[in-house]
Amino acid sequence: MPAPFVPRKVEDIIYYYYAKLVIAPSAGFQKNYGFIIDMYKRLKSGEIRMSDYDREILRIGEKNDECAFCGTKSSNCQPVHVVPRSIGIPPGMHNLVMACETCATSKQEKDLIHWWCNELKKPRDEVPRIPLGLYLKIAYEMNKINFSLKKECNNLGEIFTHIS
Ligand SMILES: [Zn+2]
Repeated sequence: MPAPFVPRKVEDIIYYYYAKLVIAPSAGFQKNYGFIIDMYKRLKSGEIRMSDYDREILRIGEKNDECAFCGTKSSNCQPVHVVPRSIGIPPGMHNLVMACETCATSKQEKDLIHWWCNELKKPRDEVPRIPLGLYLKIAYEMNKINFSLKKECNNLGEIFTHIS
């Protein structure tokens, strides 16, 4: 196992978590570490773009009868905002996932990471793939507009802190 990689900037955190979600999650983190770091470097260098994976992310998110957070199949799924609207997301950014009644009622307009980690007490490394993909894309675009991609950031829960 190589020394743990510790991202310290907003863009590094975004690329790192995006690399993690793009690399098939089923084989487990330990086994995939080398692939994740390689993907991270390719994203950071611009060789690969996050938008290259838009179609895949959206395709998985098209299941209208499956909760994007807990995986429950339900005919009562409803659209929920991944990033709170109060953040002021640019028009046209995809920010909705389908959620079961329980998750939708619990999540509401809360920040995804804060809700997942602090309220549901689930590990940061297990934020579901589709909501996290959208969350990272929006964070990237907003930090880009705000010139804050290179600002300091110590964890996933802080990637919106520089957005005014
Ligand atoms: Zn659910």
